[in-house]
Amino acid sequence: MCREVGARHVQVQLIQYTPEPERTVAAAARLCYAPIDAIQLLEQLSAAQIERLLRQVIRSGHHSVLEHASFTFAIGGISRVTSHQLVRHRLASYSQQSQRYVSYERIEYVTPPAIAGDPSLLTRYETAMAAAHELYVDLQQAGVAGEDARYVLPNATATNLVVSMNARELRHFLTVRCCNRAQWEIRGLAHAMRRAVLAVAPVLFDDAGPACWRGPCPEGHLSCGAPPPRD
Ligand SMILES: Cc1cc2nc3c(=O)[nH]c(=O)nc-3n(C[C@H](O)[C@H](O)[C@H](O)COP(=O)(O)OP(=O)(O)OC[C@H]3O[C@@H](n4cnc5c(N)ncnc54)[C@H](O)[C@@H]3O)c2cc1C
Repeated sequence: MCREVGARHVQVQLIQYTPEPERTVAAAARLCYAPIDAIQLLEQLSAAQIERLLRQVIRSGHHSVLEHASFTFAIGGISRVTSHQLVRHRLASYSQQSQRYVSYERIEYVTPPAIAGDPSLLTRYETAMAAAHELYVDLQQAGVAGEDARYVLPNATATNLVVSMNARELRHFLTVRCCNRAQWEIRGLAHAMRRAVLAVAPVLFDDAGPACWRGPCPEGHLSCGAPPPRD
């Protein structure tokens, strides 16, 4: 086993999603009030009708129909700090690279900008990462199983996941995690996920993001006072 460590950057790719997500959601919404069935609605709804229906549903807060569209992301290079924050969102589905079953010949890790911007702190940080990895390797060479050796790995260690969310949960996730109150790493992840879904479902997601993009900030005295720019 070699003793390599290296910095890692987040990668986000939308790898699957419900075909025609906006038509699917609009048909579900219209079905509730239509004398015809969903197949006919799927065929008959015009682009203008779809947009009008979606905006009405989102504005009214009748969001259960958004659950009919699902989005699956391949996410790589986030820290274990951020993956822990991510999996707190309970209405999503997750598969995460296992530190029990994957033995890391090369440890990759995330460096916070506040540390990367200070050369002397960065040197100490990189030294600590290298030392943790060296101990991880030594423990395994001494016969300790990977599932126990991993206890010495830092929170900064990079991880890979596949994450699926329906549009309702994704809009909620983007509300709380695109907000400036969210930590920089998960905020960057959320904005990248937003950009990815905006490309395939612009009406479903053009107002998705921090609450202040849609109205007053709900954070009270914790408000940042400065809405993040839209992508
Ligand atoms: C800025 C920030 C700081 C945070 N700080 C901390 C912290 O210090 N400590 C900490 O522990 N966590 C912290 N969190 C995590 C936070 O408390 C939530 O666990 C996380 O954001 C998931 O949000 P959620 O529960 O709203 O959403 P999800 O789990 O994504 O669920 C979506 C929505 O479904 C509904 N729902 C889901 N499950 C239930 C249920 N069991 N019962 C009823 N309704 C449900 C709710 O309406 C919920 O909003 C922080 C989050 C943010 C954004």
